[in-house]
Amino acid sequence: MTYRGRFAPSPTGPLHFGSLVAAVGSWLCARHAGGQWLLRMEDIDPPREVSGAAAGIIGTLPAFGLVADAPPLFQSQRIAAYDVAFEQLRTAGQLFPCWCSRSELAAGGGLHRDGHCVAAADPDRPPAWRLRVPDIDVAFDDALHGSQRESLRGSVGDFVIRRAEGFYSYQLACVVDDAYQGITDVVRGSDLLDSTARQIWLQRCLDLPTPTYRHLPLVMGADGRKLSKSEQALPVDPADPLPALREALAFLSVPASASAMDAGDLLARALADFDPALLPHCSGHSVS
Ligand code: GLU
Repeated sequence: MTYRGRFAPSPTGPLHFGSLVAAVGSWLCARHAGGQWLLRMEDIDPPREVSGAAAGIIGTLPAFGLVADAPPLFQSQRIAAYDVAFEQLRTAGQLFPCWCSRSELAAGGGLHRDGHCVAAADPDRPPAWRLRVPDIDVAFDDALHGSQRESLRGSVGDFVIRRAEGFYSYQLACVVDDAYQGITDVVRGSDLLDSTARQIWLQRCLDLPTPTYRHLPLVMGADGRKLSKSEQALPVDPADPLPALREALAFLSVPASASAMDAGDLLARALADFDPALLPHCSGHSVS
């Protein structure tokens, strides 16, 4: 099967160093395998979106030599596909409507585990929809973190598939679109390692294939916290891509040529020596 990788940013701000690392890591793995690299804009959470961020990210990537093999897929245009998956789960009896407030949830330790809502149904208010999670462990191998095992009931409980405001969850949209785009290999930041068991479980419920997973170390700020777009992490500068690109390669322990002329040249040379087995295995480290 042809390798197909992807970079799937959420447009909550301009491309920052942490996202650049995920983009470069997924690009290197895809190109090393002789495969395709696709771009997906995860723009299904309007309250968290920043106007112009999607166009900004799409416009910035080529300055770093990161050119996708197809036009970007916008999740905001995929709602009909999520509706179909939602109906498939609902008709199979795997979803239940939930009107619980935070305080009602807190009484159960913050999680739903019993496959039903404890609050009274409220005809004046749309419910969230949750997936009934069985009492089993989901096991998978991460190419960098090794063997993983998670009891969904213990860790997240019956998780949300569609929020009360009507927005589909990242977990559902990601699984539907990884299958739609034919993604064989997911390479992304370690902050999503704990979403993987939920995604694999959803793939099983929807009868979709499971890709392989490789979770890259997370870029931490000097204070040891994850850099995130929403916390205004410093955007990378498309007008001067080489310093950030060199730093991203160094972060991934990929040797970077000192004499590269431009971003495309630097990436091509990095690719020539790239070995995915040499990517760092730790879950995160800081940049100064
Ligand atoms: N949209 C997610 C983010 O920007 C990444 C999703 C993924 O790679 O699965 O954190």
